[in-house]
Amino acid sequence: MRPPTPAARCTTGTARLGNPGYDDVLLMFSVGQVPGKLECFADGGSTMVRFVDDTGPEWSRRYRAMSTERLALTDPVEEVRIAFAERFGREPEGIWAAPGRANLIGEHTDYNDGFVLPLAIDHRVTVAAARRADDRLRLLSLEKGERELTLSDIGPGLVEGWAGYVAGAMWSLAREGVEVGGLDLALTSDVPVGSGLSSSAALECATVLATRDLYGGPGDPGRLALIAQRAENEIVGVPSGIMDQMASMACIAGHVLLLDTRSLVAEQVPFDLDAAGLTLLVIDTGVSHALADGAYAERRRACEAAARLLEVPALRDATEADVAAAADLLGEVLHRRARHVVTENARVLEVVDRLRAGRLDAIGPLLTASHVSLRDDYEVSAPELDTAVEAALRAGGLGARMTGAGFGGCALALAPAAEVDAVARIVTAAFAGQGFRAPTVFAVHPAHGARRLA
Ligand code: ADP
Ligand code: MG
Repeated sequence: MRPPTPAARCTTGTARLGNPGYDDVLLMFSVGQVPGKLECFADGGSTMVRFVDDTGPEWSRRYRAMSTERLALTDPVEEVRIAFAERFGREPEGIWAAPGRANLIGEHTDYNDGFVLPLAIDHRVTVAAARRADDRLRLLSLEKGERELTLSDIGPGLVEGWAGYVAGAMWSLAREGVEVGGLDLALTSDVPVGSGLSSSAALECATVLATRDLYGGPGDPGRLALIAQRAENEIVGVPSGIMDQMASMACIAGHVLLLDTRSLVAEQVPFDLDAAGLTLLVIDTGVSHALADGAYAERRRACEAAARLLEVPALRDATEADVAAAADLLGEVLHRRARHVVTENARVLEVVDRLRAGRLDAIGPLLTASHVSLRDDYEVSAPELDTAVEAALRAGGLGARMTGAGFGGCALALAPAAEVDAVARIVTAAFAGQGFRAPTVFAVHPAHGARRLA
C-alpha cells in the first residue's frame, strides 16, 4: 500500500485550551481518511507544534509536525521520494544527502590561510532528482516552495533567493566542462537556516553530488567542494571560504576534519564522543548573524594589513612571538586581531594533538580559550553568545565557544553526557534572566559527508 501523503492538511483550529501563559490551540488534521490531533503553543516569539498523546504512537513515529500547516514524514528519504513523485509524476533516479557542519575550533582562520576543524552534523539536506530531456529546472523545496527556470537563466546575480544555491551548483559543474542538462529536483532539510550551521553548503553539496552522478564530473570530494563553493561565491554572491563545502563533502562519521586552508590538504581526526562519554551541544541563540557582513569585511582587511606589517604572506606564517614583538608596529587593534589568529591556529593544532592522543576530554579548555580570544581580541561575539558560553561552563560543561562568524548564530558546548540536561536547563534559564529569546539547544553527532542514499 502506498504511504499516505506527507502533505497532511490541518483542517481547523478548533479548541482553544486556555492554559495560562500560552496561546494554546488544538488542531484537527487528517491524512487521507485518518484523523489526528495536534497541539500548538505560541509562547512569546516561538511556536511549538506536537502531537496530542491519544493521536497514537504510529503518528508520532512516522511523522513530525513541521508547522500547523504541514506534517513531514520522519524519514526524509521517504519524504522527498513521495514529494518528488507527487509533484513531477514519476520516480526520481536517485536520492542524495549532504550535511550541515559545526566548526569545532579554528574561527576566522580560513581567510588567513590557517587551520579549521569542522565536523559534519547529523542534520542534512536530502534531495531526490531525475534528469530531463530539455534544459528546464523544476525545483521543489518542502520548506521554501517551488521555482522553475532554464539552464540559460543561470548566471552571476541572475537567480534570486534559494534557487541560486541549487541552480548555481549545476552551473558551476557545467563550468567544469560537464554537459549538464535539465533536472527535476525535490528537497527537504532539517539544517537550521541562517544559524551558521551551513544549510547553504548542505544544499549546494547535495545538488552538486546529485548532478555529478546523473550527468558526470569529478570524483574527488575536494574538487566537488570547490565546485559547490563557486556556486555560493559567484551565483549567490557570498564571498565565503572553502570550509563549509569541504566539511559537507569530505567529513566521515565519528571524525572531525583538519583542513589546511592554504594547501586544502584535509585529514580525518577521530572524534568519538560516545566512547568518551561526552556530548557536543549546539546552542542556537536565534540571533541573526546578518549584521556581521560589514564587520567580517573589516576583520579581513585588518588581517591583511597586519600580515603586510609583519612582512608575511598571511597571518598563518606568523607566530605568537612574532606578533608580540611587533606590538608597537601593529598598534593596539591590529595587535589584538593578529594575536587571535595566531593563537587560534595554535589551538587548532593542539586540539588535534589531544584528539590523536585519545584525550577528547582534555580539549575543553582550548575551546573556551578560543571563545575568550574571539570575544576580547577579535571582538566578534555577542551578549547572547557570551551568556551561552558562561552558563554552559557553570552548568558543568568542559568547554564552550561561539562558532561561525559571530555576532549571533550558535555556540558549542562540550559536556559529559550525564550533564546535558543540566546544561540545557541552565543555559535556557540564563537567557530568560537576561531577557533574551529562548535558545534552541540540541546535541550533534559527527556524521558522514555528502553521499548517495538510493
Ligand atoms: P546558513 O548557511 O548559516 O544556514 P545562509 O544565509 O548561508 O545561512 O544560507 C541560508 C539560505 O540557504 C536560505 O536563506 C535559503 O536561501 C537557503 N536554504 C537553506 N535551507 C533551505 C531549504 N530547506 N530550502 C530552500 N532553501 C534553503
Ligand atoms: Mg551559509
